[in-house]
Amino acid sequence: MSIPRSVLDQIGRTPMLEVQGFDTGPCRLFVKLENQNPTGSIKDRIGLSLVAAAERDGLIAPGGTLIEATAGNTGLGLALVAAQKGYKLLLVVPDKMAQEKIFHLKALGADVRITRSDVGKGHPEYYQDIAERLAAEMPNSFYVNQFGNPANPHAHETTTGPEIWEQMAGDVDAVVCGVGSGGTITGLTRYFRQVSPDTRMVLADPEGSVLVDYVRTGAYGEAGSWLIEGIGEDFIPPICDLSAVHAAYSISDAESLQTARALLRKCGVLGGSSTGTLLAGALRYCREQTRPQRVVTFVCDSGNKYLSKMYNDFWMFDQGLLGREQTGNL
Ligand code: PMP
Repeated sequence: MSIPRSVLDQIGRTPMLEVQGFDTGPCRLFVKLENQNPTGSIKDRIGLSLVAAAERDGLIAPGGTLIEATAGNTGLGLALVAAQKGYKLLLVVPDKMAQEKIFHLKALGADVRITRSDVGKGHPEYYQDIAERLAAEMPNSFYVNQFGNPANPHAHETTTGPEIWEQMAGDVDAVVCGVGSGGTITGLTRYFRQVSPDTRMVLADPEGSVLVDYVRTGAYGEAGSWLIEGIGEDFIPPICDLSAVHAAYSISDAESLQTARALLRKCGVLGGSSTGTLLAGALRYCREQTRPQRVVTFVCDSGNKYLSKMYNDFWMFDQGLLGREQTGNL
């Protein structure tokens, strides 16, 4: 076995684990451990593919600056790749984001500009518009734009999909995804259409997001709000293809977070909040089946950055997500 010479070689090829201790009806349920990527999330994969595509297309030159609007996992993936490849990274971040994420981004060398999170598209201080404006003004810069960049789904079509297929020995009945940018579901839809058109794509979405309504009716109204980070949308991202979604589940914050906590207790896996939504959706799908199926979902990111929130009983109690009797010596 050869030992990698770059941390970038350790992106992807994540392990698969069969989930134990949950009621999965007649099905077997597997989770792909994307929390084991170098910065702790599935977004390291697109950090690599977005930068590689910009290099290939001549959109960024040595010493150049990548610009993106995110405080999420994409920022961390980009910060890792930018640092390793010698690019600067400027991130425009709304001011509600967790301090731990900002510290991690700065430690990786990113230039973090904080802006208001209480304004919408079209406002001069809206984070995505600021990023686009900065990219237009700054020479040798590139606006990454994960929501509209085809290199995002491409990463999942060419890495995540083939890895699942190989790990499951070519036997997968359903894959359960969440949607943030839609990169994962779109890339996997394309891959499975090629190798296994009968494999079903299943959507797990936070309550308040518009995606389940859109899948069921082709239309959507005003979005609500939810606590789950990284998934759920108030619009349909340009790169997002939901045309192959076979079943869609809307999951409450309480069910999501309690399911992620149960995964840690039963299987020892410390997943983030979106992991709980995906697992809860996958469990509902499994229990609705009448014949045995092999179902795959994801631990999208690590729960480390949520230790003071969803893994803290007092926070859960304050949010009304846990009964007093469950919180021990409160
Ligand atoms: N889970 C988490 C924690 C994420 O950060 C993201 C990406 N925002 C996703 C799931 C969804 O991935 P995608 O952007 O590919 O739809």
